[in-house]
Amino acid sequence: MKQIILTGDRPTGRLHVGHYVGSLKERVKLQNSKRFDEIYIMIADAQALTDNAEHPEKVRQNIMQVALDYLACGIDPEKSTIFVQSMVPELTELTFYYMNLVTVSRVQRNPTVKAEIQQRNFEASIPVGFFCYPISQAADITAFRATAVPVGEDQLPMLEQCKEIVHKFNTVYGETLTEPEIILPENAACLRLPGIDGKAKMSKSLGNCIYLSDEPETIKKKIMSMFTDPNHLRIEDPGKVEGNPVFIYLDAFCRPEHFTEFWSDYSCLDELKDHYRRGGLGDVKVKRFLNDVMQAELQPIRERRKMWEQRLPELYELLEEGCKVARKKAAETLQEVRHSMKIDYFEDRNLLK
Ligand code: ATP
Ligand code: MG
Repeated sequence: MKQIILTGDRPTGRLHVGHYVGSLKERVKLQNSKRFDEIYIMIADAQALTDNAEHPEKVRQNIMQVALDYLACGIDPEKSTIFVQSMVPELTELTFYYMNLVTVSRVQRNPTVKAEIQQRNFEASIPVGFFCYPISQAADITAFRATAVPVGEDQLPMLEQCKEIVHKFNTVYGETLTEPEIILPENAACLRLPGIDGKAKMSKSLGNCIYLSDEPETIKKKIMSMFTDPNHLRIEDPGKVEGNPVFIYLDAFCRPEHFTEFWSDYSCLDELKDHYRRGGLGDVKVKRFLNDVMQAELQPIRERRKMWEQRLPELYELLEEGCKVARKKAAETLQEVRHSMKIDYFEDRNLLK
C-alpha cells in the first residue's frame, strides 16, 4: 500500500511556534525521511470560512502567508504538494455523502468541537458548516487516501471520527476507503503548546502567539512578558516548573548544546529545573535563556521566509500547480466512492443494469 500523508492548516492567520512544534517540524522530518510516496499539505480555506463567513478577505490574505510559513519551515515543493482546499470541489461532494453516516449527537460529543464552540461563543448559534467540519476533515483525509496524518493533539478526536466514518462507509458500501493513522509529536511539550498568556493552547484565534515571522525584538518582548509561576514572587522563592509556560517552551525547544552555547552554568534542562524548584533563580534569567534558544531556532526560518517573500509569483504558480495535482487525486477517490455507492449511473450504462 502506498504511504501517503495529508495534513494542513486553516488560513486564519500566520503560523506560530505551536504549529511548528506540534505539526510542521514533524511534517518536514517525515517529508525528508523518504518513507512516503505522496505528501499533500492543504491550506484549509473552506474550513476557515466555517467560522469566518463574514471575513473572506482575512482568509484570502492568509493563504499566501501560510504557504510562506510552510516553505520557511522546510516544506519542499519538489517533495510535497501544497494546495488550497476550496480549489478541490470533489472534497465538498465527499463531505455531503459522509454526512449521512454521522449523527448529530456524535459530532456534539466531539471534545474539540465542544471546546471550540465555547471558545467562539457559538453556544446559541452554531453555523451548520462549522458543526460539520469534522466530517469535511474526514473527506479531506480520505480523498487523498492518507495513511498518516501528522497533527497536534487537538486533532485526535477528529482522527477518531474520521476512522469511524471510514469504517462505516466500508461496512455499508464495501471496502473503499483507507483508514488513516494520526502521528503526534513524541515530545509531550509539543502536543499542545500553551499561549504566552498561559492559556492551554497557543492559537491564532486567541491572540497569544509567537509567530514564525515575528522579528527578533518582537519575539524577545513576547518572551519577556510571558506568564510564569504566579507564586514565584521573589528570586529566593521556590518555583514551579510543571504547567509553567516558560519551562514548557524550554521542553519543546531546548537541546543540550544550547547550554554550551548560551548558559554554561548548567549542563542540561533538568539541572536548570532543579535550581528553579529550589529557589534562588529569577524568571528574567530563565526567560533570557529561552529567548536565546528560540531566536536560534527561528532565525533560519525567518530568513527563508524573507527569501520566498521576494518570489511571490513563483509561489503563486506552485500553489496553482499543487491544486491541479490534488484535484486529480481527489477525483479518482470520488469516482471510486460513487462506484461503491452505486451512484455512478452513467459509467458503463450502470443505470440500465
Ligand atoms: P484556529 O484558532 O484558527 O483554529 P489554530 O492556531 O488552532 O487556528 P489550526 O490551523 O487549527 O491552528 O491547526 C493547524 C495544526 O497545528 C493542527 O495540526 C493543530 O493540531 C496544530 N496546532 C495548532 N495549535 C497548536 C498548539 N498550540 N500546539 C501544538 N499544535 C498545534
Ligand atoms: Mg484550530
